[in-house]
Amino acid sequence: VSARDWDRAVELISSADEIALACHVSPDGDALGSALAVGLALRAAGKRVAVSFGERRFRVPRLLRFLPGQELLAEPADYPAAPEVMVTFDVPTVERLGTLTDTTYKARELIVVDHHPSNTGFGTVNLVDPGAAATAVLAEELIDRLGLPVDKAIATCLYVGLVTDTGSFKHSSTTPQAHAMAARLVATGLNPEEIARELWDRSPFGYLKVLGAVLGRVRLEPEVGGGLVWTYVTRADRAAHGLPYDEIEGIIDVVRRTDEADVTAVLKEDDDGLWQVSTRSKGGVDVSRVCAVLGGGGHAKAAGFTSRLPLEETIASLRALL
Ligand code: 5GP
Ligand code: MN
Ligand code: MN
Repeated sequence: VSARDWDRAVELISSADEIALACHVSPDGDALGSALAVGLALRAAGKRVAVSFGERRFRVPRLLRFLPGQELLAEPADYPAAPEVMVTFDVPTVERLGTLTDTTYKARELIVVDHHPSNTGFGTVNLVDPGAAATAVLAEELIDRLGLPVDKAIATCLYVGLVTDTGSFKHSSTTPQAHAMAARLVATGLNPEEIARELWDRSPFGYLKVLGAVLGRVRLEPEVGGGLVWTYVTRADRAAHGLPYDEIEGIIDVVRRTDEADVTAVLKEDDDGLWQVSTRSKGGVDVSRVCAVLGGGGHAKAAGFTSRLPLEETIASLRALL
């Protein structure tokens, strides 16, 4: 990111009274954490702030409901229609804004804060660094360059982004800079134990029942790519145990430990009956390229796409590309 782009972003945000912040649909910790962190910092600076993501059934994933700043959230219907300044977080392409996509065309200025290598640079100012471990890294720098303080609430939001996208400091994005940022954030007094429990160490009992069913049908196909391990979660699986869609995100972290496979896929049927496909790679295959062909995207080792095809055809198309 050039100093000129940072300066321009700071100038635009500083001179606006109202800022519209948005992140990608099905927000993860990095997307929503980054947006709420900047939202909280701007509100403390006296700005009017709205944070949203473009979903018809607007619902914050249960995992992220403990994040500070929920009061800044606005449903897309209550979001500024033509904002003076709009800022997007963790969004590589306008389509990932869902029902807020049109708002980007109506915004006078659009600041894009992201770390996806596939980012299309759709903003009037693009703060995009594919080398950043998380969008939260760029969000922290933006707050800093705005001259605003990072309190415990803001630090919690940024920390959630950082730990989510580094996989709790396990992924290749775990650099000295990532740990140094964690040290700065933890020094504000946030509670890493509580955050870890909220994010990864709790779920309703039904999760275990669904996990059992889903692991019972896991398939290993050693001959596909560098080995493919995959399974699926239907709407019926979830309904049988009263489990909402947003509770099944962690299943892929169990499946991907399989030694015999480079690539992991978990196909999740959402409430509209579409298959939301999550993929992971240990590095042999760039899954973002595979998912891009199928209409999605992401990172080399973590990517996804949405399929309107039936289960068998969806996995067949993935298999063929691998
Ligand atoms: P997850 O499997 O955790 O939902 O997503 C992993 C990564 O893949 C995300 O960080 C995101 O970058 C990307 N991703 C997931 N689903 C989609 C999708 O439908 N479209 C695009 N463009 N990227 C996706
Ligand atoms: Mn994300
Ligand atoms: Mn991210």
